[in-house]
Amino acid sequence: MQTLLDQTIARTADQLLRQLSTGAYHHAKVKIWLFEDMAKRQAMQAELAAVGVQARVFSAYKPLLHFFLEEVDHASLQGARVQYPRHPACVSNRFLLEAYPLTGLFPGIDIQFTEGPDATGQSYYQVALSYADRTEDRRIFAPNVFSKDFLNLDVYAPSAWLKVTGGGHEHDAHMLSEYQLAFHAVMTAVVQHGWGHREPYFSQLHITMSLPGIERALLYGHERLSTTEAMHEDIYFSLLEFFQQHSGRAPGNRGLQPGQIVPGIHLDNQQGTARVRVMVDAESAIHSRSAMADSVPPDQDQNPLCGDASDLALVDGPFAPALVGQSLQSFAGMHFAFASKQGRFVNGVHRQGVLPAVLISGAQHANETSGVVGAIRAATHLQDNPDAHFVLVPIENPDGYAMHQSLCALYPTHMHHAARYTALGDDLEYREHAPWFERDARNHAFEASHAQLHLNLHGYPSHEWTRPCTGYVPRGFELWSLPKGFFLILRYRPDYKEIADRLLEHVMQQLSSNADLIAYNAKQLQCYQRYATSAPFDVRHGIPYTTAEASNQTPGVTLITEFPDETIYGDDFIFAHTVQMQTVLLATEWWWENFGKKPK
Ligand SMILES: [Zn+2]
Repeated sequence: MQTLLDQTIARTADQLLRQLSTGAYHHAKVKIWLFEDMAKRQAMQAELAAVGVQARVFSAYKPLLHFFLEEVDHASLQGARVQYPRHPACVSNRFLLEAYPLTGLFPGIDIQFTEGPDATGQSYYQVALSYADRTEDRRIFAPNVFSKDFLNLDVYAPSAWLKVTGGGHEHDAHMLSEYQLAFHAVMTAVVQHGWGHREPYFSQLHITMSLPGIERALLYGHERLSTTEAMHEDIYFSLLEFFQQHSGRAPGNRGLQPGQIVPGIHLDNQQGTARVRVMVDAESAIHSRSAMADSVPPDQDQNPLCGDASDLALVDGPFAPALVGQSLQSFAGMHFAFASKQGRFVNGVHRQGVLPAVLISGAQHANETSGVVGAIRAATHLQDNPDAHFVLVPIENPDGYAMHQSLCALYPTHMHHAARYTALGDDLEYREHAPWFERDARNHAFEASHAQLHLNLHGYPSHEWTRPCTGYVPRGFELWSLPKGFFLILRYRPDYKEIADRLLEHVMQQLSSNADLIAYNAKQLQCYQRYATSAPFDVRHGIPYTTAEASNQTPGVTLITEFPDETIYGDDFIFAHTVQMQTVLLATEWWWENFGKKPK
């Protein structure tokens, strides 16, 4: 393991406390914005007050939301008119998104948003508050800085800030806090390293941070404020973007195989310093298949979160791989296993019958876990049909799945996108060449069964997804930054268009009789529409969806499910895999009924 960076960074809050307590700021009025939680910010205010400095300390992250949470008298507030700022370097609703989920948190208050002018310079929300007995106008500063990032793209990103007036001081400028410095230190260390030009560039790239910040659940859906989670997301996707560019590929390319990026971002509000390390395990030789076969698979991953497989309908958290293996044993059919890059097994079963074959798969993206249980539950019902014909591969990406389990041990509810792709760092669906590793399972499933319907079970974040160091909105994934209900994506080869459309209509129409699902979708879609300026999808029977022709795909029809399941537990998780199961049952039974009638 080679160390590329090992750095401690002084905590900005403590530096400011020392600087402002010297006596020189005695009669000054100070305003500070930091990536710190309310406890630390209030403690700073008290410490500064004790030495005669009048200070207010605000959150640099989601400042409007923090204003409503911390400063507004909700008890007598009746309405609020919010004009949000815009900036030419941002999508038009960037600051509207940063206000999410304000309306969800305060459902009894009439909150209306309007768009402000597109302007450079300092950004402010203009807020008009209506109380029973008075009105109040407030300007809420959104501290952001314009710069060029590591891709030389324009970014306008939240930043720490210091404003001082009075007592002979006049200061109004951004500063780089430990949170921002930690991000930039990682990117600089990685960008400056010599990676060569042969993928994968590393076996594992470990980014370890301990840093102060905000970790707070919000009383709306699965929403939370977490600068720790946001750092994981920003580091992981920024590194992918850097290696996409380094490889000469297009932005967002999913075939890139940089190696496995392993962020370990830890909240530490006790220390006076942040620490950041970047370590690379350069061993990048790809094992030959025979070497893989000889190697011992890693521990069959114990899941601390969920243990009981006796009743699949009650599985209330991401399923342990060992239990998935056990569940598969109960299926009659041709069992198969292929080794992943790291030597775990992708297990599957081909249940042969006279009906047209269907492939049911989960965890292509391994942090999307409700489809794993939904796939197994559905197949358990389908096998009761003596003519049933399906291939079941519940976990297509076991290396990512193992990483998700270990990340969840520390932060169970975070979205953990670093566990999404394989240990080679690619999306297995987009793998471009041999060695195929985990992709062999899907290849085998299609070759052995000739399935023309692929039910590909996915998920997406159950709460807001942000990237505060690169402009807040997740680049390339804007559609998925907020939950918007259970979503379907239909892809078809041109010769399958008609049957694909009929299948989708049938599935959505039947799902609409699930009143809980329709109510769940309606609530999320309504909230989504308050913050999104466009909705690049349609809604039919209460289900949001998109369709697209995919001329080159192997099966005639792919139906992708997207449940906001990153990462949920308990009754919410049970509801998620029940909806996944229902979708598989509806689609498969319709296919068996209708596909055989398609003229050949
Ligand atoms: Zn996915």
